[in-house]
Amino acid sequence: MFEWPNGKRAAVSLTFDDARPSQVDRGVPILNARGARATFYLSPANIAQRGAQWKEAAAAGHEMGNHTLSHPCTGNFPWSRANALEDYTLERMERELMEASAIIRHTLGVTPQTFAYPCGQKFVGRGQGAQSYVPLVAKHFLAGRGFKDEAVQDPLAGDLAQVMGIDADDQSFGQLKVWIDRATQAGGWLVFAAHDVGDFSRQAMGADALDAVCRYCVDPANGIWIDTVAAIAAYIRRAR
Ligand SMILES: [Zn+2]
Repeated sequence: MFEWPNGKRAAVSLTFDDARPSQVDRGVPILNARGARATFYLSPANIAQRGAQWKEAAAAGHEMGNHTLSHPCTGNFPWSRANALEDYTLERMERELMEASAIIRHTLGVTPQTFAYPCGQKFVGRGQGAQSYVPLVAKHFLAGRGFKDEAVQDPLAGDLAQVMGIDADDQSFGQLKVWIDRATQAGGWLVFAAHDVGDFSRQAMGADALDAVCRYCVDPANGIWIDTVAAIAAYIRRAR
């Protein structure tokens, strides 16, 4: 089994996508109070809504990651039809990945080290012309996180450019704890992926659930290493 540092039995990362204001309004204070660092995959266009708070979050040790410049997903989503992955090329994707990192560097003073695939989708083009953009992510980032995946990341068998992302929205602590237990049993790395934080009707990790996950994971009795995607990915890369 993979050997985690300091005798820990599993690793957990909390990740939040799109730079939604509730993440710094509700999420960061909970994380800071519990002493847990998280990873935020920022949509550059949303940063300005909470510019100063994002700077504070970065200074507090939270990771600021790349989530593309314009959040392209499949055109099957009506909101992404005019910005569809089916119409992208690898050249355009690479240019926009670099541009997003440059904006984050200029606005927050940190260079993104890891990436989250919008909608968890990893292709550009269509049909026989479709291509994976995983190699681009591997070239520019330490790790790339998926979404709505169905397994805990295996630090040895898994690819850091396709880290399993487990949906943490709209679930109770009891439901999330099932995943934490799976990670502990497997000696794996559980990466939760959420959107808003608080009492939203959908696509939100409840503030109570977030607090409970943090409380559980920082308790030394539970043998969990909770840290950013960059910190855990760097450890895995060194250890492999
Ligand atoms: Zn997103």
